[in-house]
Parts: sequence; C-alpha cells; structure tokens
Amino acid sequence: MWNMDIAGLREYAGATNRTLEIKEIPNFINQTHRRCRRRACNQSFSHSQHTKFHLPSSSLFIDYCNHLVNAHDLERLIQKGKVIELQPANVQEPNSGFIVSISDGSTLQTVYAKHVVCAIGHGNTLRYPGWVHRAIPPSGVIPWPKDRLLHSSKLVDHNLLGNTHSQPSTIPSNNNLLVVGGGLTSGHLLKYAQQKFTHTLFTTRSNLRTKHFDVSLDWISQNGAALYASFYQKTPEERWNMIQTAREGGSINPPMAEWIRNAQKEGWLGVKERVHVTQAIWRPDQELFEIHLSDQTIEFVHSIWLSTGTTIDVNEDALFRNLLTSIPIETFNGYPCLTKDLRWHPDYPLYVMGGYAALEVGPNALNLAGGKIAAEIIAGNLESEWEDDVDIDLQQGISGNCLNMYDILSQE
Ligand SMILES: Cc1cc2nc3c(=O)[nH]c(=O)nc-3n(C[C@H](O)[C@H](O)[C@H](O)COP(=O)(O)OP(=O)(O)OC[C@H]3O[C@@H](n4cnc5c(N)ncnc54)[C@H](O)[C@@H]3O)c2cc1C
Repeated sequence: MWNMDIAGLREYAGATNRTLEIKEIPNFINQTHRRCRRRACNQSFSHSQHTKFHLPSSSLFIDYCNHLVNAHDLERLIQKGKVIELQPANVQEPNSGFIVSISDGSTLQTVYAKHVVCAIGHGNTLRYPGWVHRAIPPSGVIPWPKDRLLHSSKLVDHNLLGNTHSQPSTIPSNNNLLVVGGGLTSGHLLKYAQQKFTHTLFTTRSNLRTKHFDVSLDWISQNGAALYASFYQKTPEERWNMIQTAREGGSINPPMAEWIRNAQKEGWLGVKERVHVTQAIWRPDQELFEIHLSDQTIEFVHSIWLSTGTTIDVNEDALFRNLLTSIPIETFNGYPCLTKDLRWHPDYPLYVMGGYAALEVGPNALNLAGGKIAAEIIAGNLESEWEDDVDIDLQQGISGNCLNMYDILSQE
C-alpha cells in the first residue's frame, strides 16, 4: 500500500486490535538495490531514503472497506445493474444532466443524473485471444457448454467462484483446467482452482514477471514526482508510451510467485512460460478441449479460464460508443483525452476514473494510489458543483448530521 494515505486503515487496525496485520515488506530496499544493479538501471531508492512499504492482510483490508461502507451507509445508495448507455439529457444544454440506461439482465430502466462519475475499473471490453474466436464455428454457435470457457471477469461478475464464506460455486470441477494469463488475477484463479480441479495447467506468453507493484519502481520512488512532472508536459502519445513502459505488462507479487512454485513442486500445477495457445478444438464426444500449444505439445483439458484482461478502448466499449458521437472528444489508442479535472468534456459534468483516466492520472490509474488521486480530484469538483446545486434543506440536514454528503446522489 504505497503512496497511499493509510492513516484511516491504521486507525481502524488500532481500534480493532489488528495492527500486527499490517506488515512491512521485508528487505524491500535491499531487493530493489539488487534488482537495479542487475538491470543497470538508475537506482531509484537509496539506503538513506527512509522508505518503508507496508501491506495489510487481505482480511484486514476487506474488513476496513466494509467498515467504510457501513460508516457512510453506502449500501442503501447502491442499485444493482449494468449501465449500458449514457447520453446527455440535452446535448445543447451541458448542465442538463444525463440519461443513464441500466439493465438488470431482464429489464431496462432509465434514470436521470445531474452529474455522472464513471468508475468502471478496466472497462467493459473483455479481451479474448484470437484462438477462442477461431474455435467457434462459422454458425457462431458456441459448441461447448458455456461454463467450460470463462473469462476471469465473468467468473467474478457472476459470482461463479462462489463466496468462500457462503454459497458454493457452480463451476464444474474434479477435472483438468487450463488457466491462461500471467498477471495477479491468474494467480488468484489458480489458488481457487486448487480447491476444485484435479490438475491445472498455467500458460503465460512471457516469463512470469515478479514485482511488488504493478508499475515500475521509478514511479513510486524519489524519482516519482519528477516523472509525473515530466508526464504532465507530454503529448497524449508520449504519455501513452510512458504508461506502457511503466506498467510492463502483467506481473505477480513475490508471495504469489512462491505459492505458484510450491504448487508446481507438489505436482498439482503445471506451468509453461513463454508458451501460448495456437488452437483449441472442442471434442464433444469426450467433453473436453484439445489444446495445441506453441511448444508443439497438445494438452487435453475440461475447462479453460482466461485471465487475459480487458481492452481499454472507448471506441470499442459499448458504454461510450454513442457518447462519443453526442459529445465527441479526442482519443489516443482508445484512451480518452480527459480534462485535467477528469471530465469527459470541459462543459459536461461527466467524470471518468480508472483505466480510462490513465492519460491524465498516469500509470497508477489502475491501482489504488491512482484511484485515490482520481477520487480526490473528482470529489473536490463535485463538492463545489454540489454547493451551487444542492437545496438548502439537504445542506442543513448534512450540517446537522442527520444526512451524509452522499445523499446528494440519491437526490439526483
Ligand atoms: C488481482 C488483483 C490484485 C490487485 N492488487 C492490488 C494491490 O495490491 N494494490 C493496488 O493498489 N491495486 C491492486 N489492484 C488494483 C485495484 O483492484 C484497483 O485499483 C481498484 O479495484 C480500482 O477500483 P475501482 O473502483 O476504480 O474499479 P473496480 O474495482 O474495477 O470496480 C469497477 C466496478 O464497476 C463495475 N462496472 C463496470 N462496468 C460497468 C457498467 N457498465 N455498469 C455498471 N457497473 C459497471 C464493475 O462490475 C466493478 O464492480 C489489484 C487488482 C487485481 C485484479
């Protein structure tokens, strides 16, 4: 949890007697120096820099998030559904708000919102490798049972992995699984698969990259501020290049790497690095996939889980496609060029964070540090817009502590 104000988390840990669950990453500076020497890069950290990096346990972090949700009574403001379209109520009147179309899977509902914040993480366009498309016959009818080939986002969104504390999962088990990926999500899928599958094969296109953080260390070291200063001077194209260099593709953290190596030693997990799938053929008689790999081997698996991420491209994302026509903006390689205050367009109160905000927020846009930066920018703007809009009764309710500031959202 670097570069993040963890004061609230520490306070919560203290109040619940759980401070021991926040641990320093051991040997971080030494490891970093070794790696820097090996790669002959600039030393990002010095021993005189008293930089310590701490990690909370997963359960502490989850409990703290739940605590925040309860403390601000956020649950009652949540409406479940997928936003499928977003349009200005009146394109000629930028302050007329937005019409938001929400689907719950069977019905479509439209709601009006004066301000909109798109905090949709990596976006809605799941990345399926070409061999998946090629495995589907020209009729377009998927020949395998739907739950035999799943993208990680589907597994999570549809709660197919089940909640370890409550309901069981619905995915088929006791068979062989192929996990395709290389990032931290694939590691989590492997951990889950261990409980369900007899054997799992894990393939990654490159070497398994092990890193503490999802961006290169330069961005979190003493050089970080200078890098950001330079980032903000650049054109969208140059910023995009800096983001690609900083993120270096998918990676796993050292504890996950150790877990994978141990699972491999136990024989339950097979790992093939620098190997990709060239062809998948569904064999209906045996109810399994015949998988051809780039190392010229053939494997047979009952299920496939893809941890291949999403494509960040507003032109491809159904949510933004029509919006780009009604409120056109410049994009670069699929990333929108937002304003400095993370508005889609200077005149319209539509804010964007997460992956789509990367050209403004920088390489950290996809992690918690970037999320915090974006949230602070957006909240600051909403607060001043809100002061102009909100009715006096609500303001008095908030100052009198009978309402909280999030009630403004339900007022809209
Ligand atoms: C395996 C893994 C490990 C990670 N570990 C770390 C870490 O250690 N440290 C760190 O800083 N970051 C980490 N991250 C990144 C971190 O999870 C993200 O930075 C953070 O979740 C971003 O929060 P968010 O709310 O912006 O987006 P998300 O958490 O991605 O949430 C987006 C939400 O929007 C919903 N959504 C998307 N489209 C629509 C739509 N059309 N309609 C309605 N809802 C929609 C999604 O269902 C989702 O619930 C990790 C990520 C992963 C995948």
